[in-house]
Amino acid sequence: MDAVTDSKSALGEKAGKFISGTKQMLIDGKWVSAVSGKTFTTIDPATGKVITDICEGDKEDINQAVLAARRAFEDDAWRDMTPSARERLIHRLADLIEENADELAELESIDNGKNKAIARMVDINVAIETFRYMAGWPSKIAGDVLPLSTPKTPEAQFFGYTLREPVGVVGQIIPWNFPLLMCAWKMAPALACGNTIVLKPAEETPLTALRLGELICEAGFPDGVVNIVPGYGHTAGAALTAHPEVDKIAFTGSTEVGKIIAREAADSMKKVSMELGGKSPAIILPDADLSVAIPGAASAIMFNQGQVCCAGSRLYVPDNLYDEVINGVAEAVSSMSIGPGLDANNMVNPLVSETQFQRVMGYIDIGREEGAEVITGGKRRGDSGYFVEPTILGNTTQDMKVVQEEIFGPVLCVQRYSDMSEITRLANDSIYGLGASLWTRDVGNIMRFVPKIKAGTVWVNCHNILDVAMPFGGFKQSGYGRELGKDVLELYTQTKSVCIMA
Ligand code: NAD
Repeated sequence: MDAVTDSKSALGEKAGKFISGTKQMLIDGKWVSAVSGKTFTTIDPATGKVITDICEGDKEDINQAVLAARRAFEDDAWRDMTPSARERLIHRLADLIEENADELAELESIDNGKNKAIARMVDINVAIETFRYMAGWPSKIAGDVLPLSTPKTPEAQFFGYTLREPVGVVGQIIPWNFPLLMCAWKMAPALACGNTIVLKPAEETPLTALRLGELICEAGFPDGVVNIVPGYGHTAGAALTAHPEVDKIAFTGSTEVGKIIAREAADSMKKVSMELGGKSPAIILPDADLSVAIPGAASAIMFNQGQVCCAGSRLYVPDNLYDEVINGVAEAVSSMSIGPGLDANNMVNPLVSETQFQRVMGYIDIGREEGAEVITGGKRRGDSGYFVEPTILGNTTQDMKVVQEEIFGPVLCVQRYSDMSEITRLANDSIYGLGASLWTRDVGNIMRFVPKIKAGTVWVNCHNILDVAMPFGGFKQSGYGRELGKDVLELYTQTKSVCIMA
């Protein structure tokens, strides 16, 4: 891998222009600097160099954003907008994302490190799909007419019905692994249900959220409906969680921070939804088609450098297939070209930050100390940027830290099992329950194991397939609430019962 010195020169004209100069925050339809005047830098993970400066939101900026969102929520321009007008507005935003997709993919690539062609195909396309899917809901969210049993009299009869109303001002806090896509998952349903938003992007990756803010203004959303305040978690994020005018917090991130937010939000009884960490098992059954399972297991962990909440990070293999599978997966991952994401030929790209790089390298060392066998990888690649070789740890056991803790990097733990009766116990032996995959050709195995696996999503003969129609979320410490699909409407509406006596 050649050392990269300047990724900026690989950007197209529009993305290059976007990153020139300090980026401001979006509050009440205006681009403003932080009240404190402070800025922070966003870093290119392929070089470790500064991309640009970002205005750093803190308590006072969050306060202004929340007040703007509150005013916008009460304002007729948004409140009385017809469902079909809201649908058209969200579709307009989807159109604008599509028109600017290449630029957004480049910004995502330089900020997060990921492959720009994959960013275009997955992150940006699925963000567009998410806005389009959610744009279909406003005219279909309806309450019920209720068959009341309250006795009628000649003087009084009762009529009951429910309304589905927006929750109000929603604070949304998102991570750095799919920056624009996480904006879409959060914003699209909240807007479809008629809420207003203060979104805090991850400090590592604020660029596409801010570009999205420009497109939101261009689409014509009323001022204050969407506010975007970049900043750090313990300052801006904490201020958003604590703000009394915020009705709900929607959080995606680590289980550790999710617990802090849930405790803080409890003080004001805010509604919360949590999409947290994972340590998802991929289980190869004895009858699996290995020509599908081996490449499938490799991409289950390596997609997005393993920085995926539902990455297949624990691979369980029957004893008699162990050598064939582990060698096959090792061959698949070690043949992937490593390099900056702005060169679309590179399938393994840098981790998002120095911190994440140190964390992942630390876990590889822990794995070695715990007695795991490094089958391939295990080292840094190059001497600039945050590149880690795809790493396979063999002969792992359940009691190892590398098997129990979320590494969030390109590190796969492979473990043998000898008996199918062990599968459920092994799969469920985790504090997490986000995803799981089964690799089998036997429909009986599917029927037997799917109900026993404690995970929000179970894939069969695939992994990491997310569809906007399919609810997504966690069991156990992977969180609560479901994003996407019809289920997400529960997160962003509340029911009002109305009883009329006539
Ligand atoms: P993180 O928890 O460190 O940060 C996530 C967000 O929370 C960031 O915006 C951060 O600034 C903010 N934050 C940090 N401390 C805060 C505080 N005290 N109060 C309020 N906000 C605070 O997570 P990360 O490292 O950015 O992302 C990786 C994690 O996200 C992994 O655990 C991954 O599994 C999880 N994740 C989950 C899903 C899902 O859908 N379940 C999706 C993507 C990522």
